[in-house]
Amino acid sequence: MSKIKKIKAREILDSRGNPTIEVDLIAKNMIYSASVPSGASTGIHEALELRDKTKRYLGKGVQKAVRNVDKISKFIVGKDCTKQKEIDLLMIKKDRTDDKSRFGANAILAVSLACARAGANNKKLFLFEHIAKLLSPYKKEFPISLPRPFFNVINGGKHADNKLSFQEFMIAPKFKTFKQNLQAAGEVYHILKKDLHKKYGKGSTNVGDEGGFAPERLQKSTDALKILMKAIKDAGYFGKMDIAMDCAASEFFKRGKYLVDGRKLSKQQLTNHYIQLAKKYPLVSIEDPFDQEDFIAFAELKKKLAENKLNVQIVGDDLTVTNVDRIEEAIREGSCDCLLLKVNQIGSLTEALNAVRLAHNNGWKVMVSHRSGETEDTFIADLAVGINCGQIKAGAPCRGERTAKYNQLLRIEELLSRK
Ligand code: PEP
Ligand code: MG
Repeated sequence: MSKIKKIKAREILDSRGNPTIEVDLIAKNMIYSASVPSGASTGIHEALELRDKTKRYLGKGVQKAVRNVDKISKFIVGKDCTKQKEIDLLMIKKDRTDDKSRFGANAILAVSLACARAGANNKKLFLFEHIAKLLSPYKKEFPISLPRPFFNVINGGKHADNKLSFQEFMIAPKFKTFKQNLQAAGEVYHILKKDLHKKYGKGSTNVGDEGGFAPERLQKSTDALKILMKAIKDAGYFGKMDIAMDCAASEFFKRGKYLVDGRKLSKQQLTNHYIQLAKKYPLVSIEDPFDQEDFIAFAELKKKLAENKLNVQIVGDDLTVTNVDRIEEAIREGSCDCLLLKVNQIGSLTEALNAVRLAHNNGWKVMVSHRSGETEDTFIADLAVGINCGQIKAGAPCRGERTAKYNQLLRIEELLSRK
């Protein structure tokens, strides 16, 4: 038993320069901190991120959420920090809304994550081990492996001031160790920078929100994939890396059509476009290929890929929003075979772990994800290892808030190899 003594929140800045919330939780005279990220291409069914909507920070202040942590602390102080589920469920109960709009999902999540850190330390466990036990309390043995990283090296959509419709073009090296994967991605990233400069000139190597390049003159998905393949070849990694895309299609779905690469496509035409890309490039993963309400279009693409013997996973992000009700619907419809796991979409660790269990029990894979607005918090690195999900995306191998996660995975890999 280790009682929570005090909880204090503050407003800090995220990687986009917007306010976000950080919590310090004190138990046994130690301070455990956690901060929460923030999305740009957010799904409409995500839990509510409470913003002040006052003049400060152009409406984006989080002082209300900070004050709500004081309210939360009134009923959480004195509780045992190792009882994650009890604490999360109490916050959810006292919030009394479906979307956490009373306290704010940002306020609740910051407390939830800080509590997990305190719980781990009080059980003398690493955070990833503690998470593994929270996920499967009755298991004795924990298979633990490092996730395969998906590095977002070309940014479009809402994350960049360019014309690319698709939001993320990722490289996924397939070496044995995380360390090798990180090195390979780092090398391709720098070669890509040179290749972009050579082909598209000045201004083409500016970066987007997640650290990937956001070239203004690169306008089509096929152009992005072509230059990505060239960089992979130039770096000597042909055949040793796959490609993934997050289309974030809700962002370019307008009046029943998808505005892609300067064309207006029906969902059938967009399906064919994906099939063509999957035939031509080593594409292994497509996230949010259609609008967030169209479970059927996702399912049809999944079926068509299988008919064409194309082994490409379909990832639900805005579609499923780490919410068990939405995931259940996607399971019923056969929409996806991989869940994108974003803790702040749902607002507590316990609910995120429920989403993982549901996905895994139905044969889905899980990919842990950062948000486009991040902090230096490395929680998701431990989360990906703890749930043993095998996949993570945390942006480019560049920029502190992204490398914080990858560097933590390097540390964990080293630690596990010593065990
Ligand atoms: C995503 O869509 O997967 C993503 C990381 O972006 P955002 O955080 O803006 O939703
Ligand atoms: Mg996404």
